[in-house]
Amino acid sequence: MIPAPFDYEVADSVGHALSLLGDREDAKLLAGGHSLLPLLRLRFTRPALLVDIGRLEELSYVREKGDSIAIGALTRHHDVHRAPLLQEHNPLVSYAAGRIGDPQVRHRGTIGGSVAHGDPASDLPAVLLALDAEIDIAGTSGVRTVPAAEFFQGVFTTAAGPNELVTEIRVPKLTGDHGWSYLKFRRRAQDWATVGVALVAKRSNGGVESAAIGLVNMGATPLRARAAEKALASGGDPGAVAAEGTDPPSDTQASADYRRHLARVLVRRAAQEALS
Ligand code: FAD
Repeated sequence: MIPAPFDYEVADSVGHALSLLGDREDAKLLAGGHSLLPLLRLRFTRPALLVDIGRLEELSYVREKGDSIAIGALTRHHDVHRAPLLQEHNPLVSYAAGRIGDPQVRHRGTIGGSVAHGDPASDLPAVLLALDAEIDIAGTSGVRTVPAAEFFQGVFTTAAGPNELVTEIRVPKLTGDHGWSYLKFRRRAQDWATVGVALVAKRSNGGVESAAIGLVNMGATPLRARAAEKALASGGDPGAVAAEGTDPPSDTQASADYRRHLARVLVRRAAQEALS
């Protein structure tokens, strides 16, 4: 279908984007457009104004910041995947970004768009949740930092308001004691995850000191598999309790029961991979 009519402005800085958004409820940011354009074409959303931030070079970077790696919101999935700093210090993020969609999607889609869109089927939000990432949100009154655990609030609903802009995402540097895995079950190579599992475990004295597990497509938001994390850290079987506290959807890809089964199998395999 053809989108409903809208005005179009190109922002040349973060400040310019914020002033174009102003206090309008009917404006939307356009980054890579790979989630927004399908919604416009289906007329699920009808913004009166699109503010194009896709050319904001100032928000496209991967750089060191103390114990963290900072990723600008406009960094394309392809550039996250290929970033040497992430490959060295947080390969979980770069690996997962390389599993998104197909090359065309990865060359247009941005990490900021992926988190701001708030789709529980997206790959990176669950990874960021498992890593306790921090997300910077700019508004007219300044920049605030929100932990990933508070950012994802419901299907397509996040802590970023309609007149705010996600500017940066920070992930911790992982040390040599960390093992990690990202497993994504999908029917075809370029599909969205039917279920995905991001796991990072800190090893000590031959055991697991702590573990964090993020689940894709197992509820209205990316979820932490807290029971499985505890099981893994205490030497138990994390797979057995991987679906505890989840509320997966039933759709044309899979029933809720099948998704629970997938979560159990994938968490078990992810734990083996991370600790191998
Ligand atoms: P846009 O589509 O431009 O924007 C999405 C939403 O976020 C809009 O509401 C917009 O206003 C808002 N927004 C964008 N940037 C910001 C910002 N900086 N601050 C605040 N709000 C912002 N994703 C996966 O995770 N896994 C997949 O396997 C996958 N497969 C895909 C396959 C196809 C065929 C397509 C078309 C998309 C797929 N995607 C997948 C989604 C893709 O990763 C999108 O690029 C991503 O979800 C949104 O990023 P974007 O830059 O395109 O955002």
